[in-house]
Amino acid sequence: MSEATGIREVVIIGSGPAGLTAAIYAARANLLPLVVEGEPSSTSDQPGGQLMLTTDIENFPGFIEGIEGPQLMGNMRAQAERFGAEFVTTKVHRVDFSAQPYRVWYHHPSTGEEVEVRTRSVIVSTGARSLMLGLESEVRLLSHGVSTCATCDGFFFRGQHIAVVGGGDSALEEANFLTKFGDTVTVIHRRDSLRASKIMQDRARNNPKISFLWNTEVVEVLGENKVEGLRVHNKVTGEESVVNVTGLFVAIGHAPNTDLFKGILDMDDAGYLQTAAGSSATNLPGIFACGDVQDHIYRQAITAAGTGCMAAMDAERWLEANPVSADALVDATD
Ligand code: NAP
Repeated sequence: MSEATGIREVVIIGSGPAGLTAAIYAARANLLPLVVEGEPSSTSDQPGGQLMLTTDIENFPGFIEGIEGPQLMGNMRAQAERFGAEFVTTKVHRVDFSAQPYRVWYHHPSTGEEVEVRTRSVIVSTGARSLMLGLESEVRLLSHGVSTCATCDGFFFRGQHIAVVGGGDSALEEANFLTKFGDTVTVIHRRDSLRASKIMQDRARNNPKISFLWNTEVVEVLGENKVEGLRVHNKVTGEESVVNVTGLFVAIGHAPNTDLFKGILDMDDAGYLQTAAGSSATNLPGIFACGDVQDHIYRQAITAAGTGCMAAMDAERWLEANPVSADALVDATD
């Protein structure tokens, strides 16, 4: 931050693997980033994104025996802090990207007072959230048999009976992938026809390990500390029954956390931020996006971290290529 003007070089919004990797790179480039890291959620006592809800992560390179999600995020945060990144544990609730310096506002975590931060560049890493069924038992058993990511967790379900909820491409992709590990995969769908593309439907229907439960809703995930079955309700017959599975994958879609940027940053139809090909640049100069907020394909910690690195390097280069004139600095402090 410039002592004279109070204008920061870069503010990072969000603290998942994308935001924290951006913070490490930006801090090591002496940009003294401020990370507005978000708040603890109902399922996690720390901010840090979706990995705070994950137990073992076995596919993040560098950890032979795997690492727990909160530990990985804690390490990344401490690493960013070591190089001078500053953190504030709250959410940005308003932004103004209409003119330089850009402005973001948050409520002070202790006093609740509204704080305005002026900054030359912003890295948006607010992530996405998996849509959930809304059951108390589903939240309680998240990471204990309930998962939202087959790529991340499928490996833990070798030889087991698994259920996938949803009728879209994600559900069938997860179901197909899970047949590499599980003995059976039951797709539970609330209607009698799938939303997924024809090719994905054909693939799933032709997979001997996959079966379908139609017109069916999960009403409870059974088990105290791990999944022991599902209580389901048939919407046509009204009957309730138990499905004997030890894993439940919820694949009913994702939603990017982009409400803050509606009408400001370019988004696709599903609300994901759009970035230039091979870059983290958004439609506004000096505003960069990384991680799941701009990626609805890969959604992995390592890809998020990779794009976080890109965003910090893009921001650093943009700041260097767009030096602030003395006049502009005087104007900005008026
Ligand atoms: P989606 O297409 O929105 O499908 C969500 C599915 O979940 C729907 O079948 C929906 O049921 C069901 N659902 C929603 N809320 C539910 C609830 N509360 N309880 C039970 N079921 C619920 O989402 P998606 O599958 O994640 O796909 C998102 C986009 O990514 C799509 O455009 C998709 O084509 C694309 N995608 C493509 C690929 C691929 O090509 N390989 C892979 C993954 C995703 P209804 O059908 O009754 O609404």
